[in-house]
Amino acid sequence: MASVTVNEELCKGCGLCVDACPKNIMRLDSAKINQKGYHTAHCAEPENCIACAFCATMCPEVAITVEK
Ligand code: SF4
Ligand code: SF4
Repeated sequence: MASVTVNEELCKGCGLCVDACPKNIMRLDSAKINQKGYHTAHCAEPENCIACAFCATMCPEVAITVEK
């Protein structure tokens, strides 16, 4: 199973990773706010991740790490 890690303090909640994911499994967490005041992203269904790393490539903050 792939592992998608978001550095929550780098994330600015832009949602580009959500739009980029071909499996539609990246989500912004409406219940969580980081120190900068942004809702942070996370992978909601890691079991369905294909480790394409589109999310990581799209992230302008380089906040996402994808490991197989
Ligand atoms: S690696 Fe690919 S499938 Fe997995 S969360 Fe990122 S964009 Fe989606
Ligand atoms: S693309 Fe990066 S900065 Fe934007 S929501 Fe996703 S993890 Fe956060």
